[in-house]
Amino acid sequence: MSGEELERRAIDALHRLGIFVDGRGRCQQCNHNEFLVVRHLIFPPVFDAQAVDEDDEPTIPCVGVICERCGHLRLFSAGYLGLLEEEEDIDTSLN
Ligand SMILES: [Zn+2]
Repeated sequence: MSGEELERRAIDALHRLGIFVDGRGRCQQCNHNEFLVVRHLIFPPVFDAQAVDEDDEPTIPCVGVICERCGHLRLFSAGYLGLLEEEEDIDTSLN
């Protein structure tokens, strides 16, 4: 999945869920209405020393939405947005 496809599918999902309404909704911090959807999945590390064995790389694949005014970053679980069916095809490089 290209970055453009990831962005399009994320926006579609956020519209379906009513998060992006009348365009793209409002920033929770500054009430601005323009956002950048990061075109790569974000993999924040999850730390739970008791639940994870050494070979795991625990993470929750996320879609990032950044307010273009104040930079407030929201993360949405890509799985909950239905974006991981083609997970192996998602380009996670940063170029
Ligand atoms: Zn903002």
